[in-house]
Amino acid sequence: MPQSQTARRLPVHQGPAAWNMILGPQSAGQTLRGKETADFVVIGGGFAGLSAARRLTQLQPGARIVVLEAGKLAEGASGRNSGFMIDLPHDLASDNYSGAGDDRTLINLNRRAIAFARDAVSEYQINPNFFDAVGKVNGAASAAGHHHNISYAKHLQTLGEPSEDLDQQQMEVLTGSRHYRSGLYSPGTVMLQPAGYIREFGTGLRKSVSIYENTPAIGFAPTGPDWMVSTPHGFVTTSRILLTNNGHLESFGYERGRLMQLFLYASMTPELDSDMLRKLGGQSRWGITPSNPMGTTMRRIDTGQGGNRIITRTCATLKTNMTPTEAGVVRSAKVQQGKFDQRFPQLAGLQMEHCWAGHLCLSLNSVSVMRELDRGVFSGCVQNGLGTARGTLTGIGAAELACGERSDITDFFTQEVAPKRLPPAPFTEIGANIVLRWKEWRAGAE
Ligand SMILES: Cc1cc2nc3c(=O)[nH]c(=O)nc-3n(C[C@H](O)[C@H](O)[C@H](O)COP(=O)(O)OP(=O)(O)OC[C@H]3O[C@@H](n4cnc5c(N)ncnc54)[C@H](O)[C@@H]3O)c2cc1C
Repeated sequence: MPQSQTARRLPVHQGPAAWNMILGPQSAGQTLRGKETADFVVIGGGFAGLSAARRLTQLQPGARIVVLEAGKLAEGASGRNSGFMIDLPHDLASDNYSGAGDDRTLINLNRRAIAFARDAVSEYQINPNFFDAVGKVNGAASAAGHHHNISYAKHLQTLGEPSEDLDQQQMEVLTGSRHYRSGLYSPGTVMLQPAGYIREFGTGLRKSVSIYENTPAIGFAPTGPDWMVSTPHGFVTTSRILLTNNGHLESFGYERGRLMQLFLYASMTPELDSDMLRKLGGQSRWGITPSNPMGTTMRRIDTGQGGNRIITRTCATLKTNMTPTEAGVVRSAKVQQGKFDQRFPQLAGLQMEHCWAGHLCLSLNSVSVMRELDRGVFSGCVQNGLGTARGTLTGIGAAELACGERSDITDFFTQEVAPKRLPPAPFTEIGANIVLRWKEWRAGAE
């Protein structure tokens, strides 16, 4: 018997989606009012949801597709991340990113996601500054970090993947910082202006898809052979629902007690003036992931991407109730300021313009949830931190499943085991946050 589901929680944000804010206001968008029917309803308009909608337009041209987004496009995690769309293994739980599952298969799948995104950029004429295929660098600030990089480079070599060592001077020429003693460049990462990519993806999709913003799905219930999806001011009747709301899958009662609801934190400088740019030096665009996955990610963007700015990402907390706090943002902002000052003493003390938290969702065993959950209800959720690529894949896969199509993407995800059960909530939250703080401390200068 198909089961009715009610959303117990809706997304709550803390701090601005700065990537979106620096692009200036978006058009007001449309809110669903009244009754509609659709062939497919996609719940959630992030990387997974928009990719799912686009894949549906390819598989069933002319189908009536509705996307329901609780907030505005690019205001959720898709406008709050660091924008690394990474092709290589990137296991955040490991010491050096390698080791989660079959790396060759994952690389091939990540590259499928990147190719799909590249194709969308071309079809929808998305600003190429928002999808910059320049690669990334793993920066190392300590001997331990340098060794992580060496072991990661060896691992990449066994996979036949190219990488290039950078010394301290090359790192300084790139970033303007003397903090890094070495770096490992890999060419396959695409650096997104994540909010710009999502906004313009939405604009492209709107030609064939109805996107309703500020329209959370608050529940769905079977009605004859179909489903009725409820929103605060309307309803959509449909035969197929795609849940692409990442961790909020659990808010609809699915995978309860099996998903880790994590918040990551970041901050962004104001636009750097010419004097600051002169003091800073380095190139105008770069992205540095830490050699230790629990370290600090740094990114420099330029005028084509929302201004000459530096973005610092560090700190993580587990929040079972999916509600970030202002105190969490304040604590992380202090840590980020310290990391920024350490890397850029020539700009030390520069106050950040925006500080924020963003939600992501992991499982203990690093699996996603992409399968049919109920008759005609499909999910493309749980991106395990790397949601720009993984979200794109689970979105594509959910759309294919909903159309009865089979591919290497659907095969991969439907063969994954279920997310491992977590210990009871208070223990998970207390234990995980202690481990996260310890890992943060252990990452040291990285
Ligand atoms: C600070 C930070 C840095 C990060 N850096 C990176 C990075 O460099 N590279 C990378 O790959 N990933 C990164 N991530 C993770 C990445 O942002 C996420 O994994 C990704 O956004 C997941 O995409 P998604 O579409 O599955 O989910 P989301 O982007 O979370 O989209 C889900 C959408 O569903 C909507 N929604 C939820 N409930 C409902 C409902 N009931 N009705 C309607 N809509 C609903 C939400 O509003 C949201 O817009 C980072 C995250 C953070 C916070």
